[in-house]
Amino acid sequence: PAESMDAKVILEARRRIVGPNVTLLFDEPIHMVRGEGVHLYDADGNEYLDTVNNVAHVGHCHPKVTAAVTKALMTLNTNSRYLHQDVIRHAQLLLPTLPSSLEAVYWTSSGSEATELAVRIARAACPGALHVAVMDYAYHGHTCLANDLSPLKFNGPGGSGQPSFVHVLPCPDIYRQTNLDGRAAARKVIAEAHAAGARIGAFIAEPILSCGGQVVLPNGYLAAVYEEMRAEGAACIADEIQTGFGRVGRTFWAFQLHGVVPDIVTLGKPIGNGFPMGAVVVSRRLAKAFSNGTAYFATFGGCTAAGAAGVAVMEALQEEQLQGNAAVVGAYFKEQLQIMQQEFEVIGDVRGEGLMLGIELVDSKASKAPATLLANRVKEAAKCRERLLIAIEGPHSNVIKIKPPIVFSLKDVDKYLAALRKVLEEEQPLCPK
Ligand code: PMP
Repeated sequence: PAESMDAKVILEARRRIVGPNVTLLFDEPIHMVRGEGVHLYDADGNEYLDTVNNVAHVGHCHPKVTAAVTKALMTLNTNSRYLHQDVIRHAQLLLPTLPSSLEAVYWTSSGSEATELAVRIARAACPGALHVAVMDYAYHGHTCLANDLSPLKFNGPGGSGQPSFVHVLPCPDIYRQTNLDGRAAARKVIAEAHAAGARIGAFIAEPILSCGGQVVLPNGYLAAVYEEMRAEGAACIADEIQTGFGRVGRTFWAFQLHGVVPDIVTLGKPIGNGFPMGAVVVSRRLAKAFSNGTAYFATFGGCTAAGAAGVAVMEALQEEQLQGNAAVVGAYFKEQLQIMQQEFEVIGDVRGEGLMLGIELVDSKASKAPATLLANRVKEAAKCRERLLIAIEGPHSNVIKIKPPIVFSLKDVDKYLAALRKVLEEEQPLCPK
């Protein structure tokens, strides 16, 4: 039987036979056995509200996606070198959601591969411009190049430091009013590359900086950086791996919140609702530059089962009007959190769009000092006492990250708020009246 091992046995086996830095969530890891909608269930039958998983975008084990993938796997699963309608239908559903200049799709098996491919395409379009600009604390993947483009990793524990071909723009912080000028930051890194005798060929950024702590960019920030980067000949890449597919509510893609049009968009996580896949969408000009003599082939990228998963996700989003749900539920969520912010001294900032929200915990509203220990206690207490799964992010690990499956309902929000309130009340004094 699939689940004959109990948590203790699994944990002990992991210690012996799994790579030691394959990490687990929570001090006391949970043995999950089932998922449905916004819920996960452990081996003892306990139900957890999942506010973290942005892969299960249209809901854990969505019946339509699961059926489509199962049917595909039982019928045919081959690579992209035969004619098959599902990848075409996937592209036909995907492209109308994007600006018309983005018209060629490449599939990959993961977000990291999408990052790799995007930079490869950018470099092909701008020969010799090998340097890349990124935002601080960004994460763009675990492969060699993607890791090199991820300050979260190369500057984090065990990191090997900033590679010489990478330039880092500091995270803007609207809450503390620092690093708000995108144009100045872009000019600085462009000059830095010139001083090293090099040129920047690509700028990659998420439209909401997830690992940076659900950082919302100031108005006009991304447009200014894109303008400076394009003047340099660099391609602008929007990493929509966490933010895309209707999550931000107001728009289908988060870059659209900024009124910019990227040259390349990278997709992952939600694109297959758990089926491992990613994609890169580029302009015809970039696709042409990239295809100059080189064939692109990825064994699993654009395989027939991926096509089926991708189509089912796009259809589920449309049929259940989930972008609209993210807008309505996200707006209510943020409004209610802002009300709680008035009450709790430790809620310093509430930010984000749709169902991509962040709650920054601080020691006090006056100091704005990151409340790292408190955030970790809240995370553990929420899980143990309230069966609420939350994640903590940001350079100081003090931002509660909200990125649930976007089928999250108003009732789920109320449940979240009641649980968070209870945990915070037990942990921290309220604002002085
Ligand atoms: N970019 C972003 C913004 C991500 O969050 C991730 C995954 N956490 C990746 C890229 C890499 O995707 P994957 O893990 O599928 O390779």
